[in-house]
Amino acid sequence: KKIPWLEVLGEITIPGSHSSAVIFFSLSVFYSVIPAASYTDSSDDETSPRDKQQKNSKGSSDFCVKNIKQAEFGRREIEIAEQEMPALMALRKRAQGEKPLAGAKIVGCTHITAQTAVLMETLGALGAQCRWAACNIYSTLNEVAAALAESGFPVFAWKGESEDDFWWCIDRCVNVEGWQPNMILDDGGDLTHWIYKKYPNMFKKIKGIVEESVTGVHRLYQLSKAGKLCVPAMNVNDSVTKQKFDNLYCCRESILDGLKRTTDMMFGGKQVVVCGYGEVGKGCCAALKAMGSIVYVTEIDPICALQACMDGFRLVKLNEVIRQVDIVITCTGNKNVVTREHLDRMKNSCIVCNMGHSNTEIDVASLRTPELTWERVRSQVDHVIWPDGKRIVLLAEGRLLNLSCSTVPTFVLSITATTQALALIELYNAPEGRYKQDVYLLPKKMDEYVASLHLPTFDAHLTELTDEQAKYLGLNKNGPFKPNYYRCLGLPRNQGHLGSDELPALELVFASPTTYAYMNSEK
Ligand code: NAD
Repeated sequence: KKIPWLEVLGEITIPGSHSSAVIFFSLSVFYSVIPAASYTDSSDDETSPRDKQQKNSKGSSDFCVKNIKQAEFGRREIEIAEQEMPALMALRKRAQGEKPLAGAKIVGCTHITAQTAVLMETLGALGAQCRWAACNIYSTLNEVAAALAESGFPVFAWKGESEDDFWWCIDRCVNVEGWQPNMILDDGGDLTHWIYKKYPNMFKKIKGIVEESVTGVHRLYQLSKAGKLCVPAMNVNDSVTKQKFDNLYCCRESILDGLKRTTDMMFGGKQVVVCGYGEVGKGCCAALKAMGSIVYVTEIDPICALQACMDGFRLVKLNEVIRQVDIVITCTGNKNVVTREHLDRMKNSCIVCNMGHSNTEIDVASLRTPELTWERVRSQVDHVIWPDGKRIVLLAEGRLLNLSCSTVPTFVLSITATTQALALIELYNAPEGRYKQDVYLLPKKMDEYVASLHLPTFDAHLTELTDEQAKYLGLNKNGPFKPNYYRCLGLPRNQGHLGSDELPALELVFASPTTYAYMNSEK
């Protein structure tokens, strides 16, 4: 069978070139098409995983992945990720005796990456049983999914699922004989939505939902407002340790990577418009500015707009710059931010991509009309061609760029994954009545704990309050150091609860000796 990058190689003739030049070219094409972490992907295997009969080495077939034989490569990816996820590894060690999630049956729907695998295996080590699907049809690392399936996790996910596959995978996680989930870990709200729609009775046994994304959290608040939320939910997105790290730093580090791998473009001097100056937008703008791009920002919120201005970006309406920009990036979590009218007015070769959770921000459906031609030029890269020959470069069909086309920094994901694990522990172990059928934030002290677990990596030395200082500020020397409403730059979007002021449910984390004493004992 033909391999795409070899075909490219076969077509070039460079008169008098050295073979080394040819090899260099072939590799550069190879790496730009296939993310580094997916080096085992066999794009020539067109059989749908749903049509394959696969078993892991223990004889189990309770999973559906692209190719179980890739498990060994996936295991290596997971081992690499473990090196950069110190807090989860510390939790595992800590929980060797205690099993704070014993009896927990967690159904999860997240991006399936090596970092998620470390989270899942940590949840397993803490006593939970897990079943997992992907929250995005492009972001699954097939070899990682295979490694998880090989080690006994029922995983239903592969890169390049169809919409139908997507819901089928979610259904296979929840609709299983003799097993009912009692906890949900969701990213985007699709799993929660599916259970609401298809299996509402399941909520009788579910103790809580932990939701990671802005989009999913928004859906939960809508349910709560409508009085339809029937279990407590933890809004992890608005934890400082999620929002101010994952959304900001992860995107700051991965936006360039995603653009580079798909387009090989140079950023210096290019005009870019970033829609939305929330955490994700701030990260993207900072990275592009550092590379010498000329960055414009669009915003609806005057506060974020003012931040953009003070950070040195021109605040514009999309219409004002749409004809001149080289790249359009959406990061709003909203819908139809880039419409067909905008797409019509873009200049030739303009790159259009999305960093928000859902594929709703760019009106991609409006491009599926007879007068426009679609040309797949690389994996995740489409040229959409207008009758006059103008073409725009659409990345990942409007799905989130970094998780579809590049990898994301493990250390940042470690922070988020630890927050998720602690939120699950908290909801699962909370005494009756602490959490009602509403959306909550993680207790501030847990947020601080997640951060403290990551400080040793930097050999960072935290200052301790003196007794006198603690008294002066009215604080406990061991935290929490900020009130629950403190979210660095303001209040969370939350219309619900700000989180419990009580101590977290489980002694595992907060038993004396204090967090800091515990950290020292880890050294
Ligand atoms: P945020 O709420 O902090 O920021 C979104 C911003 O967009 C807000 O300031 C809002 O005012 C603005 N906005 C809304 N509609 C707009 C419009 N029509 N035009 C211009 N601006 C508009 O959210 P965030 O944390 O920045 O997350 C944004 C999206 O990115 C969410 O969907 C989130 O799930 C996703 N996300 C992606 C990644 C990733 O790795 N790609 C990581 C975290 C979050």
